[in-house]
Amino acid sequence: MKSEHDLSNILKRLDTLAYNLWWSWNPRAQAIFEEFSPLIWEAANHNPVAVRRQISESELLARLGDKEFRQRAVGVLHEFEEYMRHKPSGVGEARQRKKTDLIAYFCAEFGIHECLPFYSGGLGVLAGDHMKSASDLGLPVIGVGLFYRQGYFQQSIDSTGSQQERYPTTDPSMVPVELVKDARGKSLLCSVTIGTSVVHFQGWKINVGRCCIYFLDTDVPENAEHFRGLTGLAYGGDMNTRIRQEIVLGIGGVRFLRALGITPTVFHMNEGHAAFLTLELLREQLQRGVPKEKAEDEVRKQCVFTTHTPVPAGHDRFHADLIEFTLRSYADWMKITVGQLMEYGQAPKAKGSTEFTMTILGLKLSRAANGVSEKHGEVSRLMWTDLYPGLSPAKVPIGYITNGVHVTSWAATRSWEFWERHNSHRWKEHLNDPKFWKHVADAEIVSDDELWALRYELRRALIEFIRTRARSQHAFGGVTGEDALYHLLSFDALTIGYARRFAPYKRAPLIFSDLAKAQLLFDDPQRPIQIIYAGKAHPRDNEGKDFLRQVIGMTHQHPFFGKVIFLENYDMNVAKYLVSGCDVWLNTPRRPLEASGTSGQKVAINGGLHLSILDGWWNEAYNGKNGWSIGGKIEDNISPEEVDRRDAELLYTVLSNEVIPMFYERDKSGIPRKWITRIRHAMRTIIPTYNTHRMVLEYSKKYYFPSK
Ligand SMILES: *Cc1c(COP(=O)(O)O)cnc(C)c1O
Repeated sequence: MKSEHDLSNILKRLDTLAYNLWWSWNPRAQAIFEEFSPLIWEAANHNPVAVRRQISESELLARLGDKEFRQRAVGVLHEFEEYMRHKPSGVGEARQRKKTDLIAYFCAEFGIHECLPFYSGGLGVLAGDHMKSASDLGLPVIGVGLFYRQGYFQQSIDSTGSQQERYPTTDPSMVPVELVKDARGKSLLCSVTIGTSVVHFQGWKINVGRCCIYFLDTDVPENAEHFRGLTGLAYGGDMNTRIRQEIVLGIGGVRFLRALGITPTVFHMNEGHAAFLTLELLREQLQRGVPKEKAEDEVRKQCVFTTHTPVPAGHDRFHADLIEFTLRSYADWMKITVGQLMEYGQAPKAKGSTEFTMTILGLKLSRAANGVSEKHGEVSRLMWTDLYPGLSPAKVPIGYITNGVHVTSWAATRSWEFWERHNSHRWKEHLNDPKFWKHVADAEIVSDDELWALRYELRRALIEFIRTRARSQHAFGGVTGEDALYHLLSFDALTIGYARRFAPYKRAPLIFSDLAKAQLLFDDPQRPIQIIYAGKAHPRDNEGKDFLRQVIGMTHQHPFFGKVIFLENYDMNVAKYLVSGCDVWLNTPRRPLEASGTSGQKVAINGGLHLSILDGWWNEAYNGKNGWSIGGKIEDNISPEEVDRRDAELLYTVLSNEVIPMFYERDKSGIPRKWITRIRHAMRTIIPTYNTHRMVLEYSKKYYFPSK
């Protein structure tokens, strides 16, 4: 028996671990907290701080009295403390980094873990994965975001098949966030002036391994009531709220860092929402007496900008009246006119227009800019040519860095254990090493049987998860009662996944465009297929909500019933089950509107295969052997309706001629050899390239610390 003192010491170290999201990409660490109380763990969306708060200290200490459990806990603590102590060096920047180099990474959303509802979709998850890889690689990055107490929203489906939205409030004392305090131990308060009001905000710190993120929060007693809720909802309000939130994020974010004495050498705006930060940097210069043009240059030297959407409506645009109303006093303070301020958000030709575009502000005041895939870079150069008079689209200075995913975060626990078994911990150190993955994807390292067994286990775990969820999900294809749940889905059937925001351009119901053909596909007893959907429609997106209703409608109909499933409340937890359990990941965007997409990249580490329109990242990753394409790279000059019809046809063709037959082509031992060969190709080509380690290194070399 260990002494009380030793046990208290272990508990103290576990507390430190609970407040470092490092555990979110280490299943062994999660298992320790889960074991304290599986019930609380589940109820609190897998959150160690909730477990810690809801169990008494004496009980926790008693639990650590168990030798086997304690040893595992200590093992995890060693791993964590070793990780924190170790400072990786030479991550491959083009030039030697200086001690003072520091990147501030601004984003309106961060998806780090399901217990922190500060994200709505791919942009947030990308930002979270960016931070995790920066931590793994030892790159000095500090994140800045907004503390959405009510988050995006929690989704349920009512009996009519419509989406219902709930906004539960996060209690900061129950999640792994720490209030940032000043020297006197009070919350560090900063403020921004919006219109004629002073808006105060505080900050919450989240540790992400060796990095951290500050989330700004206007819910402080110093504020008038209507400003307290300003940062409550992610993408919730109208343009009035949106611009105020973005002023807090951009201008407030820079001030908060300054108040902390943090001096970034690079400001990375991840999407236009954060672009007001350039104005604050500009104000700093102007107030030091630097002349305007020189001041602009100084700002540009510090800033890089990433654009994330080729959908024109996806770029924030504010009316001149709104800019005038909210930023007039700020412009006065900078000693520039509102007209001059407007110009920063306008193309030269648009001078005098009443529209202010955040992306233009970001582009104008950055030294470098990029899109998020090769194709998206090209589309962005065309989209913003007007900003660069005299340049042809090809010469427009917007490059690209293709998005990736943080591989260890997206490996299901079973996959994680699978790779540990085969490579001990080495796989985690070779995430962006093509030679390593070429080697490990070989039959000598992992046999066909082992891979196929992994696939079965992952598919089964997903289906069991869905059956459990089905008990609490109201409209589950009309299924009620325990018995009926066992008719949902089959452990052996080809399982397709489709999960993402229900933005209309992603065309969720495409597979049902021709009902007769869809029925044929789903009604084949010899070669059964099933598809699982998940995703939220933005509360004001009526077309997206219609798509959602269409898909849910299908789940009630023969022959789709029990085979077409809609899973409520898509979040990072649901995503992890889906990207690991599905055999095929489907993506059907209307070209070229998917800037990159990342969910398809999450499946490779789990042995899944990607089936997609050649758009975004898939346009450059697909090589004919590592998944499937729906159609080719042709540019469309037919109407959108014709494109939809044609793409649906192409989808039916590839499913019935290639995907389904290959899954069911088995040898004597029941193994689909060709399918597994395809999995190996996917692992070799996708894991080492379409990950955030490669991506962050590319940002580092090309944009953060370029050689010249
Ligand atoms: C990865 C992920 C996304 C991004 O999906 P796309 O297919 O790239 O649109 C969105 N939401 C969640 C919860 C995710 O995990």
